[in-house]
Amino acid sequence: MLEKAGLRTFEDLLFHLPFRYEDRRRIQTLREVGPGGEATLVGKVTAVREHRRPGRRGAILHALFTDDSGWAELLWFQQAAYFRDRLKEGSLWLVHGRVEAAPRGGLQIVHPEIEALAASDAEVSGVEAKRLAAGIARILPVYQKPGEIPVAAMRRIVGQVTEKYASVARSAVPEPVRARVGLLPVADALRYLHEPPRDADIEALHASATPAHRSLIFEELFALQVGMTLRKVERENQPGLAIARDDDRLRAFFARLPFEPTRAQKRVVHEIAADMAKAQPMNRLVQGDVGSGKTVVAFAAALQAISAGYQVAVMAPTELLAEQHFATMRAWAEAEKIDIRLLTGGLKVAAAREVREAVASGHTDLVVGTHALIQDSTGFARLGLAIIDEQHRFGVAQRQSIQTSAVGADGRKGVRADTLLLSATPIPRTLSLTVYGDLDVSVIDELPPGRLPIVTRVIRTTARARLHQRMAAAMREGRQCYVVYPLVEESETMDLADATSMAEQLQQGPFHDFRVGLLHGRMKGAEKDAVMRRFKAGELDVLVATTVIEVGIDVPNATIMVIEHAERFGLAQMHQLRGRVGRGSQESFCCLVADVGQSRDSFERLMVMESTGDGFAIAEADLKLRGPGEYLGTRQSGTPALRAANLVRDGELLALARGEALAWLGKDPGLETGESAELRRVLTSRWEGLLDLAEVG
Ligand code: ADP
Ligand code: MG
Repeated sequence: MLEKAGLRTFEDLLFHLPFRYEDRRRIQTLREVGPGGEATLVGKVTAVREHRRPGRRGAILHALFTDDSGWAELLWFQQAAYFRDRLKEGSLWLVHGRVEAAPRGGLQIVHPEIEALAASDAEVSGVEAKRLAAGIARILPVYQKPGEIPVAAMRRIVGQVTEKYASVARSAVPEPVRARVGLLPVADALRYLHEPPRDADIEALHASATPAHRSLIFEELFALQVGMTLRKVERENQPGLAIARDDDRLRAFFARLPFEPTRAQKRVVHEIAADMAKAQPMNRLVQGDVGSGKTVVAFAAALQAISAGYQVAVMAPTELLAEQHFATMRAWAEAEKIDIRLLTGGLKVAAAREVREAVASGHTDLVVGTHALIQDSTGFARLGLAIIDEQHRFGVAQRQSIQTSAVGADGRKGVRADTLLLSATPIPRTLSLTVYGDLDVSVIDELPPGRLPIVTRVIRTTARARLHQRMAAAMREGRQCYVVYPLVEESETMDLADATSMAEQLQQGPFHDFRVGLLHGRMKGAEKDAVMRRFKAGELDVLVATTVIEVGIDVPNATIMVIEHAERFGLAQMHQLRGRVGRGSQESFCCLVADVGQSRDSFERLMVMESTGDGFAIAEADLKLRGPGEYLGTRQSGTPALRAANLVRDGELLALARGEALAWLGKDPGLETGESAELRRVLTSRWEGLLDLAEVG
């Protein structure tokens, strides 16, 4: 069970910090607590009775407990035999639990935690009992329970490990930094958090604001920032291509566009151009909200590489998106006399081979495709730039694989091509320093002018019929609609409408005059494409879908996006979905249908969508509400999971840790001094294959 929860080593247990504490310092009486409160009590057990339930395994154990101020019944529905043997009549106990009104009158405590004070109260006076209780009264840690492990067992396990091994936990932070920041020794901090002293400030413990917390959080963030920076340095140290700028050609390309690039687009294009011109490999992420115009920016970068005689690969997460990019870029490429090809898994064998040959011979300048592009058989004659669209859709492994495949470009061994990552998922700055700490980041923080804002409304399920009428009216005027559901197939456990059955119901019911299509993640690629193509061509009026349509699809005639069970979606995800409409000249609507009756929280969460169309604001709100979980972890970021730090809460410590990390690397870039030895060890063990220290320095 521990292993399943990711707790494999003593170290893991040491850093499995309590998520809250129980204050058992103050002994209360039953009379002052009354029903409904959590309390720590001292008293004796006067009678024990086991109650068997016919036809059921195990018995219920009742123990009568008194602390002189009153009586309560202690109840165990499990492990009755175990507690029966311990609860001798007349024995004295410290009891902790929630005091409730018993169904038949009086008070009860179900599954209390108990600690023995004395076997029998015969020889123990009231004063003596208080003294005994004071001896064990303390603040107890409460751990996130891995699986079925009871809280007391978890406490015992972590307690033992702390006692034996906290002293050997060493700090990864070099001594001069420790002194400057004022960190506690790791062992002391761990002991403090797992066994808080009696005089500890319980509020500070709960807020993770003790010096012990601060020390461990800094430790973790410092190591993280050193790791990220080293990874960045590692890449920058490799030989790369200096791809010269061609400003005349860029100006000519811009002049031919039917629109004027925004200031943000121009700035980002120049940032990229300057970066490509350097001899180090570029690793740049372009963040830009949905519709901010990343495709033009990407093509401008491609133009620079092609002008300098290199090839460019553009990779998209789906075939549909690859085709869309191909269609867009082909129009620009033709005017530029650039040979452009499409390479996806959907191509016939012969056609795919022909494209591969054109790529390998160097005849093709620009190839657009899915990850079929990065399969081994794809050899480039002189790859200069790899562009990865919607990069958050790819795992780190895939990202690294295209970056690796870009090595050997230009026929020179070990020379790495430039990479440009595009992302429509804006992420808050604290996170981007972490998740993308090894990349340079450019932000397109401006939308092209003249966009009509998308009108967003939270709609109660009871108003659905009216919504359907409105959709029908829009469709009669020739518009198209999306309806998105969270699940693919009906599931017995969740009472959620699913796309498949709803598509049928809508077709039969409110939309019987219209053509309803269905798109979901279980469909084969070719099937999905066929449906999407029909929708794009206007052969379908309504597209019922799961979140597969989230990424980059462009159908300007679609003006209504309905998200069903909106309370189930993350804000950032809904923002992406909303970006599927508002792409044409017509006013567009995004309707979040939700059963928000019961929960004020989920209603407020959805109201964020009504109040702003700014992807960064939404990402910040999402982060505060849902935590950074989905951005972090190995799959997304290629960094170890955080144990003590919380990036929402610890932004200031992160900034401090980053500053110290950069300063330390300035002094000891290869982590070769004795003071860096532990840091080096920690990075090697915790980052496993994620960081190749051998390549550093
Ligand atoms: P995204 O950043 O979401 O990938 P796209 O690159 O697909 O956005 O651009 C969205 C739409 O905006 C496209 O139709 C594109 O031609 C258009 N567009 C891009 N830049 C501008 C601009 N500066 N002015 C007007 N329209 C633009
Ligand atoms: Mg795009």
